[in-house]
Amino acid sequence: MDYLKGLNPPQREAVERTDGPVMIIAGAGSGKTRVLTYRIAHLIHAKGVDPFNILSLTFTNKAAAEMKLRIEKLIGLDARNTWMGTFHSTFAKILRVEADKIGYPSNFTIYDTDDSKSLIRTIVKEMKLDDKVYKPSTVLSRISGAKNRLIAWETYLNDPYIKSDDDAAMKPRMGEIYKNYQKRLFRSGAMDFDDLLFNTNILFRDHLDVLNKYQQRFKYVMVDEFQDTNVSQYLITKKLAAVHQNICVVGDDAQSIYAFRGADIQNILNFEKDYPDLFVVKLEQNYRSTKNIVQAANSIIAKNKAQLKKDIWTQNTEGDLIELIKASSDNEEGRLVATTIFEEKNNKKLNNSDFAVLYRTNSQSRSIEEALRKMNITYKIVGGLSFYQRKEIKDLLAYLRFVVNHEDEEAFKRIINYPKRGIGDTTVEKILVAAYDHDIPLWHVIQNSSSFLGGRAANTVDDFCTMIKSFGIEVERKDAFEAASSIAKQSGLLKDLYEDKTIEGLNRYENVQELLNAIKEYVDNPENPEKSLGAFLQEIALLTDNDRNKDTTDSVTLMTIHSSKGLEFKQVFVVGMEEDLFPSQMMMQSREDLEEERRLFYVASTRAMDKLYLTYALTRYRFGRLLNCEPSRFLEEVDPMCIKVNKRMTSALAGALRNESSEGKSGFVGIKNQSQRPMTTAKIHTPSPDFKPSNTNNLQEGAKVEHPKFGFGLVNKIETEGINRKASIQFDNFGEKTLLLSFAKLRII
Ligand code: ATP
Ligand code: MG
Repeated sequence: MDYLKGLNPPQREAVERTDGPVMIIAGAGSGKTRVLTYRIAHLIHAKGVDPFNILSLTFTNKAAAEMKLRIEKLIGLDARNTWMGTFHSTFAKILRVEADKIGYPSNFTIYDTDDSKSLIRTIVKEMKLDDKVYKPSTVLSRISGAKNRLIAWETYLNDPYIKSDDDAAMKPRMGEIYKNYQKRLFRSGAMDFDDLLFNTNILFRDHLDVLNKYQQRFKYVMVDEFQDTNVSQYLITKKLAAVHQNICVVGDDAQSIYAFRGADIQNILNFEKDYPDLFVVKLEQNYRSTKNIVQAANSIIAKNKAQLKKDIWTQNTEGDLIELIKASSDNEEGRLVATTIFEEKNNKKLNNSDFAVLYRTNSQSRSIEEALRKMNITYKIVGGLSFYQRKEIKDLLAYLRFVVNHEDEEAFKRIINYPKRGIGDTTVEKILVAAYDHDIPLWHVIQNSSSFLGGRAANTVDDFCTMIKSFGIEVERKDAFEAASSIAKQSGLLKDLYEDKTIEGLNRYENVQELLNAIKEYVDNPENPEKSLGAFLQEIALLTDNDRNKDTTDSVTLMTIHSSKGLEFKQVFVVGMEEDLFPSQMMMQSREDLEEERRLFYVASTRAMDKLYLTYALTRYRFGRLLNCEPSRFLEEVDPMCIKVNKRMTSALAGALRNESSEGKSGFVGIKNQSQRPMTTAKIHTPSPDFKPSNTNNLQEGAKVEHPKFGFGLVNKIETEGINRKASIQFDNFGEKTLLLSFAKLRII
């Protein structure tokens, strides 16, 4: 079997060990995803397993599509019938078939985060609570947290120990909101994202015949990025694999970055307990990155206390040193990134798609985008306000949703007065109150609105009903594309957009056309046996941001670190390496939080194959203000032997740098606000009261120095001249450290 040659011995072992529980916990770039791909190919090709019996759960739908392609390449066989996708999309499909068992219609709507927040806002208002205390986003994240731990509202409401002290005191009505939210979703025939998992658990718990059906079907279960599964996802997987026990999970505890969404590293530890005859595979060879990058990544993650010990190494070349780029402002940071990409592309004959720019928060993309645009470098943004989040798209989708599910409250609110029909908020409120206070289905209420609305309003609502009914007939008779086109036209939505002749208006019109194109594509695709509008709506409700990007033009990728998981690029820029931005100020409540931020840094660095750049700016516009920034503490944690200062700065900036360090402004080892930093892993030295950095140009071996953070030490060795001049210093309490002298703040004693 030729394809097995593309694997090293432990990888091969993991591929060939098809039966029984297998766990691969290994470092970044060591071939975990590759093993899963080969494993599926092997199951089908060598073991004759029917693709229909294989379930594999990936981080994005795009990752699943790529896996399918690779499998086809490996064995020349169609892997189309394997079940591959994210947890959410896979279980949404199952729920659609089994919905009636848990009291839902099979055409249930999936609420996105906006819908959920809007519903919470309505509920908070109806309960006459303060929406500053019960902020929709906070409430939603509490509810989501509960659901991901499988805590139903009944339990949440009645068990005082579940709520945090903070919530019990500050948000005493949380439980009731949770209850009303669930009831309202149910009434609307809607599930939010977390419900897809929560309800699958309920389904499998209460309907053993259904569970058994899927247990029989999925003889082989595989999970990629296992470190980021939450309790709810883990339980589903475990139940599905309970009969055959052929379960293979792969992950890396060092890349666990979704604790805030309830992902629980405990899963990895529990897995060994749950499967005593578990076969564990260790992969330690990295195939993705150069030695320098691997060494840097190892030095970063070594600072975390909570981690399983791994020794990652690579046979790849040494490669270039990691480049540190310092910019005076966020705009200059953008320019430096863009010019570097431009030059590297030309010098090394690379494509745009070989580059990625990764940031901690979406808003950082602006300055990078501007610079790339100026240099005519094509880029694409993954994430951010994606296509399906745009208002005009949501409006048309709301029409389609409401036609398919007449109880969908959020869709109803969007379209009842769009395009304008003269129906005000009061009328809408009256309708909702009539439905929910008297427990009457929404669709029934609006069909009989004349009983509680004035003549004109009632007539308008009647017309609306007639229109929706006629759309319903079209949906039954036509395929999704024909029906949607007709609805876009007859609802007046297209006309409304068409009449707006501004550039934005034109854009919106084109976007709606683009949505119709997407529906056409869906209908024409032989992989989608079901062409109904309901099936299409379900499909797109679950596309993650990564999946939405169909664009195949050669472009630089801009994305948050979170969405870069599992991917690789020849050259990677991690931008905004500044205190409070990365590590993020918002996520810095405890040491655990700092460790999670550090894992993010590890994920970001390990995306790079050939070259990694770390950039930071001295000033940045944030929250509408110009802020002075300090270099991120993470920069100090990278092994200095793998890093160098970008040459680009040698002239103007290097001079500025030297001046700065003598003035004691921000520098590489930025300790200015040390006392304000919430958490640091090592015990930090308190600098002497008269501490002032010395000019280190003439620093000699054997000199005694004081470092503001590492304390007193002796210079053992000085290497490399110029801007990359380094000193190895033996510190009394921190051991030997190598510091870049142009950045390190040292007082020569
Ligand atoms: P991550 O933790 O980032 O998800 P991973 O462990 O899933 O990484 P892969 O993406 O599977 O790693 O592999 C990283 C790269 O190394 C890929 O380009 C893959 O094709 C390559 N690779 C892995 N194993 C081998 C091998 N035995 N021979 C050649 N290339 C390999
Ligand atoms: Mg992977």
